[in-house]
Amino acid sequence: MSAASFDALPESVRALAQADFGQVAGRFRDAGFTVALPAKGVLTVKGAQSGAARASVLLSVGVHGDETGPIEMVAHAVEALARAPRELAADLMLCVGNIDAIAAGKRFVDADLNRMFRLDRGDLASTFEAGRADTLIAATHDFFAGAGPQRWHLDLHTAIRASRYPQFAIVPELIEEGARGRLIAWLGQGGVEAVIMNPKSAGTYSYWTAERHGAAASTVELGRIGTLGQNDLSQFAAMSAALHALLRGASAQPGTHPLVFNTAQSITKLSDAFSMSFGRDTENFTPLKQGEVIATDGDTVYTVKHDEEFVVFPNPDVRVGLRAGIMVVRA
Ligand SMILES: [Zn+2]
Repeated sequence: MSAASFDALPESVRALAQADFGQVAGRFRDAGFTVALPAKGVLTVKGAQSGAARASVLLSVGVHGDETGPIEMVAHAVEALARAPRELAADLMLCVGNIDAIAAGKRFVDADLNRMFRLDRGDLASTFEAGRADTLIAATHDFFAGAGPQRWHLDLHTAIRASRYPQFAIVPELIEEGARGRLIAWLGQGGVEAVIMNPKSAGTYSYWTAERHGAAASTVELGRIGTLGQNDLSQFAAMSAALHALLRGASAQPGTHPLVFNTAQSITKLSDAFSMSFGRDTENFTPLKQGEVIATDGDTVYTVKHDEEFVVFPNPDVRVGLRAGIMVVRA
C-alpha cells in the first residue's frame, strides 16, 4: 500500500479526505448556524432553533481508510449544501473516521476501528484505533446529548469483495420498531437492496450509536473499494439523492423495499487454527446448503443449520476473538 495522493482531487474531496472543514464550516457559520469542530475529523452544524422537530443526523465516512467512495460522495453532498446552507433542516455531525489511515491509503493503522466501539477491547486496547474510537465516542455523545427523538447515524462503507447485492446494510435489531421501519425504507430509497438485522454488537460504530444513543443507525455498504478521486459516483446516485432529501427534511423518491435477512449465526475466530471453507474472495450473500462446513477451529466445527444460509463478510484473516463472518437467512 502506498500513501494516498491528494493531488488533482476536486477541492471538496481533498478537504474532506483530510478532514479540513474550514470552508464548509465558514459557510454554515455565515448563514447563522452554530458550528463546532469538537475533535479532529468532526464537524457539527446545529440550527439556531434546534428542537424536538429537528432531526439529528450523524454521517460518518472513512472509518475504514481505504473505503474512499463515500468520502467522495459526501464531499460533493456537503459542498452543495454549504453553498445553499439554509436548506439544511437537520442538525448534522460529519465525521471522518480514520484520517491517518485515509492518508496512508490503508484500511487501518494498527487494527480495525470498526471493532473498537465496545467497552472491553482486550489486547486491542493500546492500539492507535482504540484512542481514535474514544475520541469519536466522546464527540458522538456530545452531539446526541439533548437531541430530539429523530436520531440518525449512517456509517458509509464500501465492501472488500463482490456482492450479489452490491448495496446492502447492517441494521441493529434493538432500534425501536417505528424508527427501524423508517430507516429501512429510507435505505431502500438510497438503493440498498438487502438489509441484515444484527442482534449483537461486533464493536461497530453504528451499533454503538443505536444502543447508546437511540439512533436509527446502520453500517451501509455502497459497493466496491476504489481509489480516492477515481470512484464511479454514478453507483451512489440513489444514496446521494436520499441523503440530499434527509438533510433537507424532505421525502426521498420512493424506492424498492430491501430484502431483509436475519443473522443465523456469527462465526468467531477462536484460535489461530481457524480455517474457513472458502476464502475472502467469496462473494457476499453466497448461498450454502444445510450441513455444509463453514469453518473449523480446533474442535469447533461451524456448519450450516438452516436449509440455506448466505455468507457475508467472510474474512479468515481477522484477529483471534473477532468475527470472521456472518451467516444470514431470509427473514
Ligand atoms: Zn468498511
